[in-house]
Amino acid sequence: MSEPFLRIDRVSKHFGTFQAVQDVTLDIAKGEIFGLLGGSGCGKTTLLRMLAGFEEPTAGRIFLDGRDMAGVPPWERPVHMMFQSYALFPHMTVEKNIAYGLKHERALTRTQRADRVAEMLDLVQLTAFAGRKPHQISGGQRQRVALARALARQPKLLLLDEPLAALDKKLREHTQFELMSIQERTGVTFIVVTHDQEEAMTLSDRIAVMDRGQVMQVGTPTEIYEFPASRFVAGFIGSVNSFDATVLSRSADGLRLDVPALGGEVTARDVPAAVPGQGVTLAIRPEKLRITKDRPEGGNAVAGQVKDLAYFGKDSLYRIALPGALVQAHAVNARRGDEGARVADWDDTVWVAFDPSAAIVLVD
Ligand code: ATP
Repeated sequence: MSEPFLRIDRVSKHFGTFQAVQDVTLDIAKGEIFGLLGGSGCGKTTLLRMLAGFEEPTAGRIFLDGRDMAGVPPWERPVHMMFQSYALFPHMTVEKNIAYGLKHERALTRTQRADRVAEMLDLVQLTAFAGRKPHQISGGQRQRVALARALARQPKLLLLDEPLAALDKKLREHTQFELMSIQERTGVTFIVVTHDQEEAMTLSDRIAVMDRGQVMQVGTPTEIYEFPASRFVAGFIGSVNSFDATVLSRSADGLRLDVPALGGEVTARDVPAAVPGQGVTLAIRPEKLRITKDRPEGGNAVAGQVKDLAYFGKDSLYRIALPGALVQAHAVNARRGDEGARVADWDDTVWVAFDPSAAIVLVD
């Protein structure tokens, strides 16, 4: 592999005896949108601050575009950090706020400066709002001003700490796509910190899931969702039904497991690390469970009873009592008919089926 654009090499940060970031190694490619995802206090912001140069690592090294960042002060790094609060100046116009991003660019002439600001206003589609003050524009527009100011310096790496947290849900969804489009047009590498898994999945080319200062898994959104490597990641990303299981045998079809909560044996996806006799966790996403009235032929099928359901229009969420567990199943509603819209109703006796490929075996 060619040299990565950003290499975080065994980086740790301790505050006294507290380890905020522990032995993190990540390689990030040029032009990627890379998501750092994790709960509150897991070390995401501390990692960003080390990339920006506001904190020095206790151990490990950071290389950006081949250059060791040790001892390089923030203003000399080709990095910009956009804060959650946006930190706009209330008394300055949108245009002046963006121009402020260029205050350290001494080499620029007046005309070059004005051109750059105009280019940024155009990039974030705020040319018509250039003369307004921050309180005279919407939350989404303020976010774009902060983005324009951050990009004005033409950083190689833009760090965004919870960039959409200040926006309401609807605006957040719209802004996610805008952010992706701006990133694509500029080609700047983005690292986005978020605690919101849907946001991370939408925005990111790849995601690092963090817990207690450590990176638990790195992968594309699909890899992280479909192939979680641990119980923590499976539970953190999306919903999951989890069961204690014991490995019985391995065959060409997959792993045979004994799962008491499902009333006996099931076949699951093969995992090289699993050995017969071993206790493991079986994890199945709610939308991978199929609900049928009649017993399906072959494969994994368990009889149960619908205990509860929530109708969302296009789909429904069912809680189904199986021999030793209450599971969640998510099913798309049928397109026609009032009666037939749901695949099952309260108290119905149903079969719950799943493909071995949808049954994730976690050995941690
Ligand atoms: P959040 O989503 O809540 O912002 P985070 O994942 O960004 O969380 P960090 O801000 O990186 O978390 O903090 C990680 C841990 O390090 C926290 O427990 C925090 O209290 C601690 N921490 C951060 N900065 C310092 C500091 N300067 N001194 C001592 N402890 C700190």
